[in-house]
Amino acid sequence: SKPIVAIVGRPNVGKSTLFNVLAGDTISIVKDTPGVTRDRIYADVTWLNMTFTLIDTGGIEPDSKDIILSQMREQAEIAIETADVIIFITDVRQGLVDSDAKVADMLRRSKKPVVLIVNKVDSFDKFMPDVYEFYNLGIGDPIPVSAASRLGLGDMLDIVTSHF
Ligand code: GDP
Ligand code: MG
Repeated sequence: SKPIVAIVGRPNVGKSTLFNVLAGDTISIVKDTPGVTRDRIYADVTWLNMTFTLIDTGGIEPDSKDIILSQMREQAEIAIETADVIIFITDVRQGLVDSDAKVADMLRRSKKPVVLIVNKVDSFDKFMPDVYEFYNLGIGDPIPVSAASRLGLGDMLDIVTSHF
């Protein structure tokens, strides 16, 4: 069966934007399964000759800090259980925050392949210096992308699919 790739990250980092860009028109919303309190969104994505199932674990985005962290932990657990590769998205504009580091720790301990994405790098000249900070997460090379401007996505997909 197809490999599963899950997108994990804080509210507002661009998970759904990335998902929609990669999924094109093939989005389908799958109803909650018991014990999971929100919808998950699935799409099949083909890159070169490889097809995988992409999951946006985002769902309803909370705004309280405590709830954000607990929801991120839950997303990460779902991703660790179900995914073959995890895309962990951060946001160059907001920089590295505490909840990023906590979730990175969970992902590192899981031993699943994690691709660390730094989104909103709309201009490499302007934002690349800020990307290097994300090496501090200790989960590998931060890959700069701009989901909105569709920059860096080919490199990202090469890395994601190299783990299949
Ligand atoms: P999610 O909460 O992680 O699913 O984030 P969304 O995909 O809903 O995006 C949150 C906000 O960030 C929206 O206003 C997007 O338009 C914006 N956004 C997403 N990707 C980019 C990007 O690459 N560059 C910029 N500048 N904004 C982006
Ligand atoms: Mg979203």
